[in-house]
Amino acid sequence: ENLDKGLAKTKESVFSKLSRAVVGKSKVDDEVLDNLEEVLITSDVGVDTTLKIIERIEERVSKDKYLGVSELNVILKEEIAALLEENNSTDVSDFELPDRPEPYVIMVVGVNGVGKTTTIGKLAHKFKAAGKNVYLGAADTFRAAAIDQLQIWADRVDVPLVKQKMGSDPASVAYDTLQSAKSNGADVVIIDTAGRLHNKINLMNELSKIKNVMQKVYPGAPDEVLLILDGSTGQNAFEQAKQFTKATEVTALALTKLDGTAKGGVVIGISDQFKIPVKYIGIGEGIEDLQIFNRTEFVDSLFS
Ligand code: GDP
Repeated sequence: ENLDKGLAKTKESVFSKLSRAVVGKSKVDDEVLDNLEEVLITSDVGVDTTLKIIERIEERVSKDKYLGVSELNVILKEEIAALLEENNSTDVSDFELPDRPEPYVIMVVGVNGVGKTTTIGKLAHKFKAAGKNVYLGAADTFRAAAIDQLQIWADRVDVPLVKQKMGSDPASVAYDTLQSAKSNGADVVIIDTAGRLHNKINLMNELSKIKNVMQKVYPGAPDEVLLILDGSTGQNAFEQAKQFTKATEVTALALTKLDGTAKGGVVIGISDQFKIPVKYIGIGEGIEDLQIFNRTEFVDSLFS
């Protein structure tokens, strides 16, 4: 019910738009499909993904000319869940950390303001609550505030934060963090990085340098490059995903602030556009307001 609350704005909006889309109709005809297309696009699903979904529904309509509008919800739910499944968005509710001596290393990327620090804090809390030994690294050394904010979260969650002073080499912080993690038998390491998109070459170099030093400590690191996107920013989130996927290999997405938007369709569009699984969603400012994304629960929440 937490999820329902977090997605309430999107849910209400989708519900009322869908009701309007089928008003006076009993069958799914071209006009209904046109309306549906608009519902998806105005919910930030993105044009390409919307067209893909409409095409799939058209296919089903062509096989069953008497498809009633009352079935539209179920069909949408199925087709969107299928899309998310194709993109490997998770459908489990537990953490499945690999069973091995080395920690699971998550490198977090994203621009300032998207909820990067908050998500790291919530994530650390989640792992800690699951009995894991968590280490944080403040490799966003570009802003003093970033380090301070992360320290506040580290204190709140009660996990160690490895940091240096502002302006120090991010790769060196990452290295220190992994070394400390190693000597203290950490299970999970989460490294914050700076996301300065206006200097793409720098960003690319910095991220690859951080990766390289990590690999000196753990050859397989990072296990995950997690891109944080503000789910309430629509096209900006798409644009940031484009830039970051060019700068480094992003392996998972966290969409934040879904509680504050009626356009949660961005979750579907971004995952599909970039073929990257959505792993976490932020649905509030509190420490517990980060959910492991579950595609079935997500579509159930939106379409029922
Ligand atoms: P950063 O600059 O990317 O590290 O962003 P912060 O983590 O400092 O977050 C920026 C603001 O967004 C803060 O006020 C957070 O409380 C807020 N925030 C982060 N995630 C969420 C979320 O899922 N929902 C809501 N409503 N606010 C969030």
